[in-house]
Amino acid sequence: MRAAVFHSSPAASGAWLSIEDVPRPELQPGEVLLRVIACGVCRTDLHIVERDLPPLHSRIIPGHQIVGEVIEGATAALPAGTRVGVSWVGGVDGNCWFCRHGMENLCDHLVFTGYSVNGGYAEFAAVRADFANPLPAGLDPITAAPLLCAGVIGFRSLRVAGVERGERVGLYGFGSSASLAVRVLHSWNCEVYVVTRGESHRKAAESLGAAWVGDEDAKPPVELDRAITFAPSGKVVVSALSALRKGGVVAINAIHLDRMPTFDYDRLLWGERQLRSVANMTRQDARDFLALARDLNFRPAVNTFPLEDANRALEAVKDETASGSAVIVL
Ligand SMILES: [Zn+2]
Ligand SMILES: [Zn+2]
Repeated sequence: MRAAVFHSSPAASGAWLSIEDVPRPELQPGEVLLRVIACGVCRTDLHIVERDLPPLHSRIIPGHQIVGEVIEGATAALPAGTRVGVSWVGGVDGNCWFCRHGMENLCDHLVFTGYSVNGGYAEFAAVRADFANPLPAGLDPITAAPLLCAGVIGFRSLRVAGVERGERVGLYGFGSSASLAVRVLHSWNCEVYVVTRGESHRKAAESLGAAWVGDEDAKPPVELDRAITFAPSGKVVVSALSALRKGGVVAINAIHLDRMPTFDYDRLLWGERQLRSVANMTRQDARDFLALARDLNFRPAVNTFPLEDANRALEAVKDETASGSAVIVL
C-alpha cells in the first residue's frame, strides 16, 4: 500500500515524510482493517515530525483522525463496510488504576494512533476494534475527519473547564479545535470571547458569531467564567488566567507548551481559580461529540490534499495558511 512514513533520522523542514510502498498491515487479534477514506492532519502530527514529541520508533505512519471503512476482521458491532472514526487514543490496557476509575484518557499504557502505532496517512490501517467509533449516519466522511481530534479534544476541553449553559467562555487561539468549540458553545447558549493573533483567525471567529474578538494582547471586556487555551504558549495561559472571575477555570488544550512563565499567584490564581491541562480523550468523549456533531450538522471547512502531498498538508498546519482543516484524502 502507499503510505506517508516518518523516519526518526532527521529530515529537512518540509520534507518530514517520505511517500513509500509498504506492506499492508497484518491484523492482530481484536483489530479491524480499515480502508482509509480520509485522515485529518493535526498540530500534534507536526510535533511528532518536528520531534517536540520524542520518536518512539525508527519509522511510523502518522495520522490520528482516521475515517475508514471496515474491510477485514468485522465483528457483530462492526460489520464489514461500517464507517468508523479513529482518534489519537487507539487503545488502553483496561486494568490500570485510571482505567478502573473512568479515566481511560490517563491510562498508564495508552496506545497513540500515528505515534506509538501506525496511523492513517496510508491506504489501509489496522486499528483496535474497540477504539473504532462508528460514524453516525449523516456525517460526511471527509469533513468528519477533523472532528476526530480537533473536535473531540475541543469538546473534552469544554468538559474539563466545566462549562455550563449560558456562561462566558474565552477561547485563546483559534484553529480548527476552537472553531468547532464555538459551535458547541453557541448550542449551549454561551457567549464566546476569542483572543487570537492573526487577522484571518479573528475574521473567522467573527464570522462564527463570537461576542467579542481581540488580538493576542487584548483583554476581553468582561470577566470570563471559563477559558480554553489552544496555543502552545505559556504566555497565553497566563493571559487567559488574568481574564477569569473568581472560581473560574482555564483548561489548557495543548500537548506541548513552550514554557510556563512565572505569574502572580495572589492576583491570578488566588480566589479558587483553577488551571487544568486537557490530556487525550475517552471513547465516551468521542462518541458524545460525534453524536452532537451529527445533531448540529457539523461540516467544518476542509482543505484536502492527496497522500502524495502529505508534507504540504503538514506545512499548511505549520504556517496556519489554510482557513479550513487540512485533510488527506485517499
Ligand atoms: Zn490531534
Ligand atoms: Zn489503563
